[in-house]
Amino acid sequence: MRFTETDHFSHPHRLLLISAEVPFRCDGCKELGFGLCYQCPYEECNFHLHKECGNAPPSTSHPFLKRCNFKFYKETPGWRARFCDACGLDINGFLYQCSHEHAHDLHPCCAKLPKSLSNNGEKIYLSNQVRSKCLKCKRKEIANGVKGWSYVSSCGNYCYHVACVKEAIIENWQSGYFQLDATNELQISGPSQELAGRRGGNSGWRKARKLWLILKLVVSAIFGDPVTLISSLVQALLD
Ligand SMILES: [Zn+2]
Ligand SMILES: [Zn+2]
Ligand SMILES: [Zn+2]
Ligand SMILES: [Zn+2]
Ligand SMILES: [Zn+2]
Repeated sequence: MRFTETDHFSHPHRLLLISAEVPFRCDGCKELGFGLCYQCPYEECNFHLHKECGNAPPSTSHPFLKRCNFKFYKETPGWRARFCDACGLDINGFLYQCSHEHAHDLHPCCAKLPKSLSNNGEKIYLSNQVRSKCLKCKRKEIANGVKGWSYVSSCGNYCYHVACVKEAIIENWQSGYFQLDATNELQISGPSQELAGRRGGNSGWRKARKLWLILKLVVSAIFGDPVTLISSLVQALLD
C-alpha cells in the first residue's frame, strides 16, 4: 500500500507525502515534526500532518498498555487537560484514548514509537519500566504524576525519558544547540563534550562517544530519520 497522497477529514485539500525541509508544527496533534509529513500543496494553507497523524487508524493498541483499547479522537473528549502516558507532555490535538475510567492517552506519534533501534553497534529499547535514572533530568519519574516511557541502552546504563529528549529538542532546535561537523553528522554538543572534558583521557572519550551515539539514536527514534532531521535543523538555523 502506498501513502504518497491522502484525503484527510481535517483539511479540504488533498495532502501530499513530502520530506519537510524545515521542522513543522503538526496541525493534527500540534506537536513538532521533522522530515516525512503530509503537506497541503497550497502554500497559503501552511498545513502539515505527521505521517502518523495523517494515517492514524481509528483504533490501536500498545504492548505496554495491554488491557487498553485506544480510540482515535481529533481532540480530547471531556473538559480535563490530558497528558500523554508515553512522553508526559500536554495533549493539544489528535490523540488516542482508552475507555478505562482512568483513561490512558497517547499522542499518535507516541503510540508509534519504535520498540528498538540500532546503529553503529549500539542498540536502544523503548521501556516503561526504568531501572536507571534519566541522564537528562536525573530522575526516574517525569512530572505531572506520569511515569513516562524511556529509551534505554542494551547495557542498561544509558537511559533517557522520551519526555526529556522531546522537550530538549523543542527548546533547542532554534537556539544553536545542533551543529554539523565535517562529515555532515548531527552533533548534539552538550552532554558529550562536557563529559569528555570533565573525565579526560581515553576512557572518558569512549564514554562520551557512546553517550553521543545513544543520544543520536534516541533522537532518531523519537523524531524519525536522522538525515532528514539534520538537514531540517540546518535549514532552520540558517533562516
Ligand atoms: Zn501530529
Ligand atoms: Zn490546503
Ligand atoms: Zn486503559
Ligand atoms: Zn506523547
Ligand atoms: Zn528525564
